[in-house]
Amino acid sequence: MAFPCPACGASMRCIESRPTDQGTRRRYRCASCDYRASTLEVLAEVAGSRSQGMRPVRAHNAPQIRAAAQGLLAVMERALEQVKALERLAEEP
Ligand SMILES: [Zn+2]
Repeated sequence: MAFPCPACGASMRCIESRPTDQGTRRRYRCASCDYRASTLEVLAEVAGSRSQGMRPVRAHNAPQIRAAAQGLLAVMERALEQVKALERLAEEP
């Protein structure tokens, strides 16, 4: 996945790629101005996967509603973990 350098617009070159717990991490370096950046590839499945929730919920009583809410909460917690992973990545040099 090539993208233009945020600093000068030249194309960024991938200099490292490795799998992590959160996804595939890639380091990029601009061939022109030496700007460095990292990306983290994360499967966009949190909100879309049938197996992970966000499907229509039919709940008719309090326990069912509570179970549905807990399922949604688990999905949101996973999404939050991914956001935190991205924030950690952004803090690294
Ligand atoms: Zn550059």
